[in-house]
Amino acid sequence: MSKGKGHIPIRTCICCRARRGRNDLLRLVLDADGMVVPDAGGRKPGRGAYVCRDAGCLSLLHKINRLQRVFRTKRPVALHPDLFGLSAMPEAFNGKAGAASRL
Ligand SMILES: [Zn+2]
Repeated sequence: MSKGKGHIPIRTCICCRARRGRNDLLRLVLDADGMVVPDAGGRKPGRGAYVCRDAGCLSLLHKINRLQRVFRTKRPVALHPDLFGLSAMPEAFNGKAGAASRL
């Protein structure tokens, strides 16, 4: 009866400050070009931040000043186009959970 993965680390959403299990949040990474990219696998190197997998929180990411503070950079920060897609279509990356909740 093992759960397999052990306990889940708690992270805070950079938009609404909700504390959630890491698996419930989307990891964001600032890459070398100043681009904020979604890191669905949680494996990219670099400074990470977490945001709810929620259209409301994802749309708040568009407030670039906040992202500069989160990533502690003074350089311009750009959102990867995938993040715009995610905030427009939250169900696309809720995946199975989204489908199941409609039963
Ligand atoms: Zn949030």
